[in-house]
Amino acid sequence: MKTDLIIIGAGPGGYETALLAAERGKKVVLVNGGRLGGTCLNAGCIPTKCMVKDAAVVSTLRDGAAYGIGEVKFDFDFNRVIERRDKVVDQLREGIDGLLRKAGVTVVEGRARFVDASTVRVGEEDYSADDIIIATGSESKALPIPGADAEWVLDSTAILKLEYVPARLTVVGGGVIGLEFASVFNAFGSEVTVVEYMKNIAPTFDSDISKRLKQALSKRGVKIITGAAVKKIEQNSDYEIVTTYDLKGKEETVVSSDLLMAVGRRPNVDGLDLEKAGVEYSPKGIPVDDNMRTNVGHIYAIGDVNARMMLAHVASYQGRRALNAIDGRADEIRLDVVPAALFTSPECAMAGLTEEQCKERGMAVRVGKSFYRANGKALAEGESDGLCKLIFNAETDEIVGAHIMGAEASLLAQQCCDFITCGMTAARIRDIIFGHPTLSEIVLAAVDAAR
Ligand code: FAD
Ligand code: NAD
Repeated sequence: MKTDLIIIGAGPGGYETALLAAERGKKVVLVNGGRLGGTCLNAGCIPTKCMVKDAAVVSTLRDGAAYGIGEVKFDFDFNRVIERRDKVVDQLREGIDGLLRKAGVTVVEGRARFVDASTVRVGEEDYSADDIIIATGSESKALPIPGADAEWVLDSTAILKLEYVPARLTVVGGGVIGLEFASVFNAFGSEVTVVEYMKNIAPTFDSDISKRLKQALSKRGVKIITGAAVKKIEQNSDYEIVTTYDLKGKEETVVSSDLLMAVGRRPNVDGLDLEKAGVEYSPKGIPVDDNMRTNVGHIYAIGDVNARMMLAHVASYQGRRALNAIDGRADEIRLDVVPAALFTSPECAMAGLTEEQCKERGMAVRVGKSFYRANGKALAEGESDGLCKLIFNAETDEIVGAHIMGAEASLLAQQCCDFITCGMTAARIRDIIFGHPTLSEIVLAAVDAAR
């Protein structure tokens, strides 16, 4: 079958790009080797955020006294958490199915592999196209240590299949996935220990934020060990999991009932027969230029598979950029200004550069900080724990980075991302009217603090 565009993978990169291409009048074949919606919908963003909400409700009930509520007796049924989560995911998957049908995208079920640079095989059927977009996503990595491949070592997909709340959970890796699950299961009543290799948890975040997050999670009862390299994982005679790690040259252990390994993700490059298309790749992903073009001019790679930034919205916008390149359309998408959020309790989020990155670039900066405890809305909502740190280029007065921990941090970071994308200066932001009382005023207070 000959078509205009083949897209391999139906995650947020693949299916959203397919819909946009169809809207532009292209004949699109979308090869879907997993479930519609990819990792994000089926085993990532959405199921985890359902659980984040459940965890918040449980925490509010437990902390009811702060809002004048006497002791609340409630049953917590984890099966209901799973039921609600699966229902949300199914509903959204049906929605994507409907959108693709309505748009006239041909969805082909099965795994694609290249036959040559213009042809892809699925089962016994060959499909050829002028342009091909690879959007095959990523999968969990495991540490190359003894015990890492044991069946009782859970990755993020397997932990979503648990039908019980772990009594004691060890989380290896204090990055985004590890911390979101740590926060959720802590609220559900698990005794959680996070073991992180770097000196800070959430190492991709500004260190002011990650240090505060460590304090906040520790206060909620999550045990966090940083600067610790996990060496082996074993099961003892009581079927408990013993994790051995090296801390400042000393061997220590933590014992748990369950273990989540969350030490990063690996791009899905295997099984595609990329050699047959002449596409360069490595286990670290498929290298691309700023239009998401691989070394083969009409083959593009978007989303987790190019490993530039493993976020759902990045996958979608990279797809839009690739399609624009195919169509010869210029765009103003700032793929270097991306909002990112960590949905722990409290939430953390960022956009633009960290202070460390500004230093590396030799950029002189002005930093403004404000605190949730000084914001009326935050106090009214019982959300006094939080910080907003804004970074401005000292020469141009433009906002270049935003780093926030606290209630609705993801929304506030989005607001700052808009400012950064539009090249706003502190002076111009001060001329915008911020409503009162709102959490957004925390952003304004940080702008004012950066004088
Ligand atoms: P994917 O979503 O991985 O989709 C790729 C699809 O391609 C899959 O369905 C796969 O089966 C299919 N495929 C693979 N090989 C083939 C083949 N040969 N032929 C046909 N099909 C194939 N990101 C956020 O932005 N926000 C979040 O809150 C967030 N939370 C997350 C939580 C967890 C637990 C995890 C694991 C990830 C989370 N992410 C989050 C990351 C996000 O899920 C990914 O960045 C996003 O899914 C990447 O989209 P993609 O389209 O590149 O690939
Ligand atoms: P990650 O890279 O964020 O974190 C992995 C962590 O494991 C790092 O902090 C690393 O230092 C640590 N680590 C590595 N080796 C270790 C060792 N030997 N012992 C202890 N710790 C060790 O990766 P992740 O958490 O697996 O997430 C993968 C991707 O999924 C991320 O790139 C992220 O973009 C995406 N994601 C995003 C969200 C979100 O946007 N809210 C949520 C989940 C996942």
